[in-house]
Amino acid sequence: MWTHKSDADSGPARRRMIERDLMGRDITDPHVLRVMAQIPREEFVPLEQRDRAYLDHPLPIGQGQTISQPYIVAFMTQLLRLNPLCDVLEIGTGSGYQTAILARLAGRVYTMERFADLSATARAVLERLGIGNVEYEIGDGSLGWPTARTFGRILLTAAAPDFPPPLVAQLAEAGVMVAPVGCGDLQQIVVAEKHQGKLIERQLSDCRFVRLIGEHGFRD
Ligand code: SAM
Repeated sequence: MWTHKSDADSGPARRRMIERDLMGRDITDPHVLRVMAQIPREEFVPLEQRDRAYLDHPLPIGQGQTISQPYIVAFMTQLLRLNPLCDVLEIGTGSGYQTAILARLAGRVYTMERFADLSATARAVLERLGIGNVEYEIGDGSLGWPTARTFGRILLTAAAPDFPPPLVAQLAEAGVMVAPVGCGDLQQIVVAEKHQGKLIERQLSDCRFVRLIGEHGFRD
């Protein structure tokens, strides 16, 4: 676990990231831009990656996993159309950076991670930042949240061969699910809405994510 405080002067680097890498592309949701301007990404990366925290790249966080690229975090968050009444299920806590952004935009976030040490590090950072509306669970997120309930929004932050059936079942009617989907090195970001029990899917841009490992994902 790494512990460090944000540099007081990380604000300008963060603003550059917002203007160049998010607004300079197709991120227009003012709520997503506001929250990403507030969350210190350097808190979520190991010390040796700290100088690279505001580059628009994924970075290693241990266990062969990565913190996602800021643009992709913004793009997927924008697709979720969050509001404070939404409960969000996130599969793949990773560093907790995406979790923090979801938590600032939604009512409550339920986040699952297969590596206990990543979950513990993420939780420590979020608690230090005063973000408390998050429930953490260790386990195979392809099986869904362990208690029976539905969510208005579901986000996968690891690539799945298809939307895992337990997650489709846990998506509420009129809910939105966003995931990287595909079996190759390159996948597509897919957004799905549930209407009358069926998913209506739209394929968006290409992306490159680590794999979802689990019963409805890939083998380890
Ligand atoms: N959004 C995260 C962030 O901002 O740091 C990045 C997540 S990383 C790209 C994907 C995460 O999904 C990894 O931490 C990985 O361990 C986790 N993961 C993979 N398969 C999983 C599964 N079946 N259940 C829960 N977590 C899983």
